[in-house]
Amino acid sequence: MPGTVYLVGAGPGDPDLLTVRAHALLRQCDAIVYDSLVPNEILQLVSSTCECVFVGKRRGAHSVSQFTTNDILLELVKRHSCVVRLKGGDPFVFGRGGEEAEYLHNHGVSVKVVPGVTSGIAASAYMGIPLTHRDGCSSVTFVAGHEGINKKEPSVNWKSLALSSQNIVIYMGVYNLQFIIDQLIDGGMSPETPSAVIQQATVKGQRYLITTLMQLAEKVEKEQFVSPAIVIIGSVVNFQVEACAPLPSEVTMPNSFS
Ligand code: SAH
Repeated sequence: MPGTVYLVGAGPGDPDLLTVRAHALLRQCDAIVYDSLVPNEILQLVSSTCECVFVGKRRGAHSVSQFTTNDILLELVKRHSCVVRLKGGDPFVFGRGGEEAEYLHNHGVSVKVVPGVTSGIAASAYMGIPLTHRDGCSSVTFVAGHEGINKKEPSVNWKSLALSSQNIVIYMGVYNLQFIIDQLIDGGMSPETPSAVIQQATVKGQRYLITTLMQLAEKVEKEQFVSPAIVIIGSVVNFQVEACAPLPSEVTMPNSFS
């Protein structure tokens, strides 16, 4: 196979958070395959001759299946030397990057990963919340609140997480929030545990709220928080230094329906 597929992390949205390597690859690639949660300002970095393929979700429609995405990548890399598979955040954090890397590798394709700033880390920074703190916050767990639809049983044991992790960062958790909170409280987590949710971190429309675990789901619903959002649960929320949070960028996030 002549070309290479680069699995590139686009970061959480603000183009200033792209890595230098991601920026260079976007400028030079012959083809790009991208999904939701990537602002146009980042996509506009590619050359006018670059072949652009969207494989994300459109409102009211299903996303392109993983099977098809793999085929598209395979077909493109037969014709091009530099193919970028661009993913929001980091490609190896809840982004199916592992599945794509495995598929491409098994088909004899050269594939390289370019890490990105994952939204869980960006989200905490943009609220001024450190994810760890020496005063009693030495562990943090990244968890998917919504798992693959093909899984028969949930693979996250929320009850056991309640006591085993001091701080929990939840991706894709907004729609399942009441269930998650009930499980955590059942598992022994205090209903008073400080909790935060941030929507559209780093881009226009960013907003967040801080409350207790017990009140989180109700407030999220009342304030109409929607995806994409990150939930942070744990005492680390109390260490917020709001003044250190950067201002969100003015770019908007299209297709935010994951
Ligand atoms: N690979 C991505 C995660 C993809 S899963 C990463 O590393 O960030 C999609 C989920 O990521 C969303 O449902 C949401 O929970 C989170 N997310 C992505 N971008 C976000 C943003 N700008 N603000 C808040 N959450 C975001």
